[in-house]
Amino acid sequence: MLKAKNQAWEHILEIARRVHSETPALSTFAPWPTDITIAPQAVPQEQPETAINAVKAYGASHPLIKAVQDHADDLVWKQSYRDDDLGRDFMDHYGYIELFGPDGMFISHQCRGFIGYWGAGLIYPMHQHAAEEIYLVLEGSVTFEGQDQAPMLYRKGQTRRHSAYEPHAMRIGEKGFMTFALWRGKDMAQPPRLMV
Ligand code: ZN
Repeated sequence: MLKAKNQAWEHILEIARRVHSETPALSTFAPWPTDITIAPQAVPQEQPETAINAVKAYGASHPLIKAVQDHADDLVWKQSYRDDDLGRDFMDHYGYIELFGPDGMFISHQCRGFIGYWGAGLIYPMHQHAAEEIYLVLEGSVTFEGQDQAPMLYRKGQTRRHSAYEPHAMRIGEKGFMTFALWRGKDMAQPPRLMV
């Protein structure tokens, strides 16, 4: 069982590495980490089952998403917030894996890599974090809002960057949104904070 799980995690990591190398905006943002430790951990007992089922049901063709969907029950899913922050509906249609990073499925202290899902129509209010960030839209669409700029729509294949502590909000399009995102910077282990 453990061997099969390790192979699934390494399979996802390998596809993510390919996406990174084939996407200049990502490889320019941060090189692929060279310190990745292949040490898969136990999947925690408390996992956001409803959100995981939403990920599995999401209609997508991207190979990175397919790999995540195929092995969704064996991955470590996280949510940065609690129900009373953003509401039950948000939490039932949102989740991410930290594929690599200080607290990731694979450990790296050079860079964090996330694969995240948000359901159709969700609004992720203005928030900020210490890490610099880049999002690659794997599937669906999202409108990013900043504090001093007009909202901008991003579709499959497009990338969006945020600098350290740059406030941003997200409006998810009608086909939901899945992303491969990277964080870098010396305080990248700090979580995001809502600004409301
Ligand atoms: Zn962010």
